[in-house]
Amino acid sequence: MNELYQPIETLPGVGEKRAAKYHKMGIDTPYDLLFHFPRSYIDYTSPVMIADAENGVPVAVRCTVKQKLTPSFVRKGFSLYRVVVSDGVSEMLLVFYNTPYTYQAMKAGEEYYAYGKLSGGLLRREMQAPQVQKVESALLLQPVYPQTTGLTSAMMRTNIQKSLTYLEKEPFETLPPELMRDYRLISLTDALRAVHRPENKQELDEARHRLAFEELLQFQLGTLMLKHRASVQISTPMAPDTPMDDFFSALPFPLTGAQQRAITSICKDLCSDRPMNRLLQGDVGSGKTVVAAAAAAYAAKNGYQTVLMAPTEILAQQHLQTMTDFLKPIGLEPVLLTGSTKAKEKREIKKKIADGTAKVIVGTHAVIQKDIEFASLGLVITDEQHRFGVAQRAALAEKGGCPHKLVMSATPIPRTLALIIYGDLDITILDEMPKGRLPIQTFAVTGGYRERAYGFIKEHLDAGEQAYLVCAMIEESDTLENVQAAESYAETLKNGAFAEYRVGLLHGKMKPQDKEAVMAAMKAHEIDLLVCTTVVEVGVDVPNATLILIENADRFGLAQLHQLRGRVGRGVQQSYCILVTDSRREDARERLKIMSRTVNGFAIAEEDLRLRGPGDFFGNAQHGMPPLMQAAFCSNMPLVSETQMAAKQLLRQDPELQSPELQPLRTAVLQLFAKNGENGLN
Ligand code: ADP
Ligand code: MG
Repeated sequence: MNELYQPIETLPGVGEKRAAKYHKMGIDTPYDLLFHFPRSYIDYTSPVMIADAENGVPVAVRCTVKQKLTPSFVRKGFSLYRVVVSDGVSEMLLVFYNTPYTYQAMKAGEEYYAYGKLSGGLLRREMQAPQVQKVESALLLQPVYPQTTGLTSAMMRTNIQKSLTYLEKEPFETLPPELMRDYRLISLTDALRAVHRPENKQELDEARHRLAFEELLQFQLGTLMLKHRASVQISTPMAPDTPMDDFFSALPFPLTGAQQRAITSICKDLCSDRPMNRLLQGDVGSGKTVVAAAAAAYAAKNGYQTVLMAPTEILAQQHLQTMTDFLKPIGLEPVLLTGSTKAKEKREIKKKIADGTAKVIVGTHAVIQKDIEFASLGLVITDEQHRFGVAQRAALAEKGGCPHKLVMSATPIPRTLALIIYGDLDITILDEMPKGRLPIQTFAVTGGYRERAYGFIKEHLDAGEQAYLVCAMIEESDTLENVQAAESYAETLKNGAFAEYRVGLLHGKMKPQDKEAVMAAMKAHEIDLLVCTTVVEVGVDVPNATLILIENADRFGLAQLHQLRGRVGRGVQQSYCILVTDSRREDARERLKIMSRTVNGFAIAEEDLRLRGPGDFFGNAQHGMPPLMQAAFCSNMPLVSETQMAAKQLLRQDPELQSPELQPLRTAVLQLFAKNGENGLN
């Protein structure tokens, strides 16, 4: 058998320890390793002259070794290795600390590329801890791999380059030839080679295009297969024109037109013998809960049970409260089932669910998905809040025959993308806010205004309102960098500007219970000012919070800024969003201006798509999608619709991808969806 499929231990240089690390990452063979794609590339294609290099900015320099200085052992455990190099005009020092290997390998008179940041003045410039490659054998676009502890990018590079030699011995292909021809795709072998060892940028682009195409294709095949399977299932049709007047007349407010239309489509779906698979998408505050309540009422009137699942306990509690408010007037009493429900109570509730007395059950995903017997489950509603959660959608269907499904999401995404990400669902959009809401006022300011902004916040805190302060260095929420930044910011505020207020802290590295406790304290107004990273506990409703200040606002996508902003503006008072940025970049300022201009999440999402391309949506693990590594670099919409066309074309001929030629693709699709949850596609 080809070496490509042998255990990873068989790769030269991979011992037991390193192999264990690879296994932990799900990499078991050299083949798997080839699908571990670079995160970025170090660009050696346009080296600069030493004299032109700015200090502190990473650059590549092409240089010849003049002299290797004698290593100096400064003290125990600290040695310096220095090399004098020249680019033909000026000289600099390469300095390595405690790492003799590169130094030892370098030879006087030979040419190298050195990559790193320069420092020092006119007399002596240095590049510290540079990356060095020999010119003859250099990778001009040198891949940088996503790392795990103990596995450096350089180690992976070596192992992957070796795996490539195995691949070249026995090339393979996953896509059918006609498809490759129709969409002008290079072969998988070429693409893998080029993505790990690109000769130039064009080659890299072609490789990424091919790999992104395949990822998107797999994803779309998966969602379309889910849709196809659902379309042949039989569900329990409910009675058309079930009277709902009592429900509507007991509501404390008139429904918006969008809410009415959503309820009409949902009730129509419920009356079909095909299970509903509908997405209810609406900005934070657009009033999705009452739509869910109407659907539950409709099911109950037909004798069916509804479960409403929330991602966290506190959201489940919140839902129980609102569902009770809407449903009690028509004689329904929702029950709650979460991790903290006491054993005795849990038994009683489970009994009520089994004998059908409980018609509306609210709980967390985790609890509801475990051993619960329903008397007659007719409708499953999941509140995804801010995730797309593809796998969970496939999951609950197995419970109690084939219930109707409604997914609620507060992430506005452009329609074109929604059709793909939710390819298996029908989509309803709540694009109208309830009347009488005051739009959030948004300002973009520079750091110089921070003190004044603090003053503004204090005025509102003094008036008994609450505020959020988002402090993150980078967009991903759970990084150490962000956590540290938030922690030290909270400390500074506690001991300084906000010493007289109750300052709380929330970040992604906290345990779920601790996060929930902090959010509960915020809700109970035991916290005045909550300093946080971008953790996505945004579903929690704190109507008394009227102010949010976001530091480094230029580093976020518009969609995310909009999500963050949605934490305020939930009550009757005027709310404010202050975006702080010191960026001078024109595009950054333009984006923040868009935020000040509009509060419509869908318009903002469209702008984001236009400015940043669709890649963000695919690469962001927070969305709950399987991560599409290469598609994350994708900057063009045409690729996205092309893959959709291709997926439909393949499935038209072969709805379950049965033909032998499509087996590699089928396997990949199943894997992609299996990785994302226990009950994906099978
Ligand atoms: P979301 O879509 O974010 O889940 P909610 O369902 O929590 O929104 O609704 C937000 C708030 O708006 C709630 O307090 C709800 O009672 C209120 N609301 C919903 N629909 C209307 C309406 N048509 N008119 C007035 N208020 C409404
Ligand atoms: Mg909600």
